[in-house]
Amino acid sequence: MDLILTNTATGQKERVYADDGKTLRFYCCGPTVYGPAHIGNFRTFTIQDVFRRTAETLGLKTMHVRNLTDFDDKTIRRSQEEKKSLITFTDYWKNKFHRDCEALNNLPPHIEPSALAHIPEQIDLIQGLMDKGLAYQAGDKSVYFRISAYESYGKLSGLKIEDRKENADGRLNADDEYAKEDFSDFALWKAWKPEDGPNKWDSPWGPGRPGWHVECSAMSMKYLGESYDLHSGGVDLLFPHHENEIAQSEGCTGKQFVRHWFHLAHLMVDGAKMSKSLGNLYTLEEIEAKGFTAEELRYVLISGHYRQSLNFTLDSLGAAKSALTKLRKFKSLLEKHAKNDGEEEGEFGVFGPAMEAMADDLNVAKALGQLFTIVARLEKNPEKICSATAENFSKTIYALGLKLEEPKNQSEEELVPVEIQQLAEARWQAKLNKDWAEADVLRSKITEAGWTIKDSKDGFEILKS
Ligand code: AMP
Ligand code: ZN
Repeated sequence: MDLILTNTATGQKERVYADDGKTLRFYCCGPTVYGPAHIGNFRTFTIQDVFRRTAETLGLKTMHVRNLTDFDDKTIRRSQEEKKSLITFTDYWKNKFHRDCEALNNLPPHIEPSALAHIPEQIDLIQGLMDKGLAYQAGDKSVYFRISAYESYGKLSGLKIEDRKENADGRLNADDEYAKEDFSDFALWKAWKPEDGPNKWDSPWGPGRPGWHVECSAMSMKYLGESYDLHSGGVDLLFPHHENEIAQSEGCTGKQFVRHWFHLAHLMVDGAKMSKSLGNLYTLEEIEAKGFTAEELRYVLISGHYRQSLNFTLDSLGAAKSALTKLRKFKSLLEKHAKNDGEEEGEFGVFGPAMEAMADDLNVAKALGQLFTIVARLEKNPEKICSATAENFSKTIYALGLKLEEPKNQSEEELVPVEIQQLAEARWQAKLNKDWAEADVLRSKITEAGWTIKDSKDGFEILKS
């Protein structure tokens, strides 16, 4: 069974394949780590996870790279406000992001490069564009991409240069237009300004930092090659971010940057765009505080078609809860009958129609519909269940990224008191600051209160002693 996906570059449904015949190489634009990711961000990351899981279930080997944007205007400004170094500040939010991804059962990317750790690669890319006359240093010492020298600018979004309005994302300098040759040119290197504080790096153009678009071109090509299979992000990144990535990469290498573009529509809340000012922006933590699980949230996030925006409501979490209860009940039924040896026809046996829907432009809504029809049929005829049914069910559930574990009830899993959680967060922060004495004091307080901290690479777990 082939995996078919709409390619934004052509507007057509196309087969997803590994150009080198071995590994499907794909890149997803990652989070900006200056605060908790919201559930809209997680709709994008979770559907990208379903994409990867489906590709793997259909037999493709994958190489998944997703970056961490750990310097930009927002991270720099917030770290200064909190009087923390950029690394300490962004490490905290990286860890929080990783914990949320794990709770949502999103597979970690094979490589997760951080922009801060790849400044030389970004400088090299800018130098390549300078050498080709596609970039110039302006009077404000920043370096800009010269759009007028790059003919095919706009081919992904279909936007003409004349249509290009000032950036909606606020990521360019406010006074760019006074320095640039042309209003449309975008920043590749931003000259240092006093408000950037200590956050500056040396370059052939003086101190400063790379512009945001450069990191994804430089890091994706480093790990996936100058030409690779697929690139993904939320629909807001199509223009100008992805358009600029194409211009930078193809301008530098002269080769096709990416063959397949995979864009995901946004999550809305109660019919409106999610935004801080409307007060309708949720995080995973807030959803859990309302009594729902990360798996219930995952179910809601993946259940609409990725090409249509999804309207999130708290009621949809209630519906997810009952859908997951049904699937768990079915899983127990399967476990009872899985001892009966047996074969099923086709690649995914009775679950073939569900996997066909997944393979056809990642139609998760249709796949879930098929899944429940098959489940209802087998519940009426459990004698038809055999070991192969259980195996094929597991494959389908893997593609969806559901675990279907019994939810722990509160008596089994003692809730961690807020004071202990705060002590543990403060200890983690002290560790990041390399303040070992403070970290030890905080650990003792936690131990005295009857709790134990277990550290891992990316964070910590609080357990009852
Ligand atoms: P950011 O951390 O802002 O760079 O965004 C991380 C990812 O989330 C990007 O792929 C964005 O396109 C995506 N994104 C942002 N807002 C939403 C939303 N409301 N719904 C779905 N995806 C979103
Ligand atoms: Zn990107």
